Formats: sequence, C-alpha cells, structure tokens
Amino acid sequence: MNLLILGGTSEASALGRALAEDGRFRATISLAGRTRNPAPQPLPARSGGFGGIDGLVGYIIEHCIDALIDATHPFAAQMSRHAEAAARQTATDILVIRRHAWQRQLSDRWIEVPDLPAAAQAIGPVARRVLLTIGQKDLEPFAAAPHHHYLLRSVDAPPPESLPPRTEVITARGPFALADELELMRAQQIGVLVTKNSGGSATEAKLTAARMLHLPVIMVARPAPPTAETVATVPEALAWLARRHAAHQRGE
Ligand code: NAP
Repeated sequence: MNLLILGGTSEASALGRALAEDGRFRATISLAGRTRNPAPQPLPARSGGFGGIDGLVGYIIEHCIDALIDATHPFAAQMSRHAEAAARQTATDILVIRRHAWQRQLSDRWIEVPDLPAAAQAIGPVARRVLLTIGQKDLEPFAAAPHHHYLLRSVDAPPPESLPPRTEVITARGPFALADELELMRAQQIGVLVTKNSGGSATEAKLTAARMLHLPVIMVARPAPPTAETVATVPEALAWLARRHAAHQRGE
C-alpha cells in the first residue's frame, strides 16, 4: 500500500520508524518545510505545501496513495482540514493521529484561553516576565501587549521583524528535562508560562516545573478536532494500517 504521512511531529517520525522495515507499505513523510534543520526522517520525505486541497488531491492521484495518515500537530488545523477534504474527494482512506491533550492537575494554576489573542490579553495589565512556548509563527497578538518581557523559545529563531518588542529568543528543540526547565524559569525569573495545549511528553516538563514553582500557565485550547477517524497513539495507527492492508489484499 502507498501511504502518505503528514508529519512534523514525534508521532509521524515514530510511525515512519515502525514502517521503514515493513514490506507491506511504501510510505512517504511530508513536512511543511518550516524548520531549517528538520530531524532526519526514517522514510523518504518531501517538503513544502501541496498547494491547497487541489494540490493535495493531485498528489494523491499522481502517487496512487491508498491511505493518508494525518500525523500533524494538533494546532496544524488547516493541513488537517485539507487532508480530510482531499481524502473525501479522492475516496482515500484517512486516519488522524492526535495525541491526548494535557490535563490540568489539582495544584495547577492554569488560565485556559481559546486562542493566542486571548492568551496575550490574559497576561494582564501589569508587566511580567513571560516564557512564550507557542512556536515561531503567530507572534502578532503579543505585539499588542508590548509592556511584557518575553522569553521566546522555539526550534528556529523567527524573523526579527515578527518579534514583539522586548523579546529575547532562545532556540532549542525538545525533549526538555525537568531540571533544565526549573533552572530556566528560576534563572530568567519567569512569572508566567504561555503554551498551546500540544500534549505529549517531549515538552511536558515545563508544566511540571510551573506547578513546582506555583507559576500560572496560560493554556491555549486546541482548535476543533478533525472529524475523520482518530487514534491517539502510534500502536493504534499500526493496528489500523494492518486492518486496512488486510482489506486491501482482499480487494476491498
Ligand atoms: P497549518 O497552519 O495547518 O498549515 C498551513 C499550510 O502549510 C498547509 O495548508 C499546507 O500548505 C502546509 N503544510 C502544513 N503541514 C504540512 C505537511 N506536513 N506537509 C506539507 N505541507 C504542510 O500548519 P502549521 O501550524 O503551519 O504547521 C506546519 C507543520 O509544523 C505541520 O506539519 C505540523 O505538524 C508542524 N508543527 C506545527 C506546530 C504548531 O503549533 N502549529 C507545532 C509543531 C509542529 P498547502 O495548503 O500549500 O498544502
């Protein structure tokens, strides 16, 4: 079976590793091409947008894709919408891998907000030192709250013109260890953490650190989930693929 895996997540890479030696599948991982030095992929990879839904439809037809695996980040909502629409138009099987969201614990001081503009507003009128871990795009809302000091952590440094005033950038790629997160928050005298509810273990230590330091966390809720069939883990996706392959062999 020919598979197209929409990637950019640890789940996509893990699925790729699991499929690399599996003769039943010929899979390609697709990356958006946002990070300058993406982690090496275990499978053949392509990079860059498809050119909207029509472009993805064209790719599916041209490469005789039998199943589409949407293993994008929970906040990559446009790509997920396009994948669902293209799968529908081409009658291609589609499965979404969406890791579980983080859950608030009893001693957490979370302020849950629906989007990034609300997150910027929730930091409040008093100037604070903010650890911003929302990636490198969508920084505009924070320019509207220029009285804070931002410590922005992202994989690559964003273009300087996109940064809010008083922003310091540190580039780093997870996974992050708890001791390092505690050290960073203490050394930088962080007063509040802003994060998307990405879920997963690679970047979860910042939440534990904030809990231990009694820091508030402004937690941006996920966009609406895709309506296509969804699993939370790579083993579940592999089980789905095995079932699809068996059906494919039977000519279904
Ligand atoms: P997005 O807003 O949903 O997508 C914008 C456009 O980027 C899509 O319409 C598509 O362009 C292209 N694109 C996105 N993912 C792609 C992929 N895997 N392969 C080929 N083209 C892709 O997505 P985003 O939030 O910019 O995220 C981009 C990538 O970074 C995703 O692969 C995602 O898994 C990863 N990522 C995102 C976040 C986050 O917080 N958003 C965090 C970690 C990793 P066309 O319309 O031209 O096809």
